[in-house]
This record gives sequence, C-alpha cells and structure tokens, in this order.
Amino acid sequence: MTDTIFAKIIRRDIPANIVFENGDVLGFVDLNPQAPVHVLFIPKRAIATLDDAAPADAELLGKLLLAAAEYAREQGFAKDGYRTVINTNSHGGQTVYHIHVHLLAGRQMTWPPG
Ligand code: 5GP
Repeated sequence: MTDTIFAKIIRRDIPANIVFENGDVLGFVDLNPQAPVHVLFIPKRAIATLDDAAPADAELLGKLLLAAAEYAREQGFAKDGYRTVINTNSHGGQTVYHIHVHLLAGRQMTWPPG
C-alpha cells in the first residue's frame, strides 16, 4: 500500500491536532471541519478502505468505533448525539485511502447526506 497523509500523521512526520490515542487508534481534528466537532479516527495499522477489510480486521474495526464512542462520551456530547461516517471509494466520497471514521457533533445533523 502506498503511504498516505494519515500514515505521516501517525509517524508524526506532519503535524495534527491529536485529541485521542490508544494502542490501536489515533484521533485528530479534521483539517476542514464540517461541524463544530469533527474528529477523524484511524487505525494505526492501515486498511485502505472498508472494502479492503477482512474478517481478521473485525477486532480493529470494532476498536475504531469504540474509540469514537469513548471520545464522544468523554467530551460530553454523546447524549445530544453525533454522527459517525465512513466514506468508501470514489462514490462514497473517500479522498484519503487509510480507513477512517468521521465523528461529527455540535450541531443538528441533516438527512440524507449530500
Ligand atoms: P474522506 O473524504 O476520505 O472521507 O475524508 C478525508 C478527510 O481528511 C477530509 O475530511 C479532509 O478534510 C481530511 N484531511 C485531509 N488531509 C488532512 C490532513 O493533512 N490533516 C488533517 N487533520 N485532516 C486532513
């Protein structure tokens, strides 16, 4: 797999506003936020897209979602609610090919998304 901008953030080769970290997952503020809270959660072990995920990745994917939920609870916006999004490939709007969960919060979300 080719290196992505997110791999560089994991290695601290480029700066990011890191707000969450555990052994498997990193969370950092999106460069172009779409809500008052917009944090990206990524696994430290790269998977390019959800379409590339295999059964062996099930635990890591679970940890990714749980990291977002943990952060939302800790920050106190879980009760009001939030949105988690995984964009996959071109029609899904994916631009960085290192799987990530967008956590959006701090305003009323609308449906359907664009
Ligand atoms: P995607 O479109 O792949 O679902 O989401 C990629 C996200 O990464 C976008 O929301 C974009 O703003 C964000 N992003 C792209 N490059 C950087 C970067 O260098 N730093 C940070 N913090 N976010 C980035």
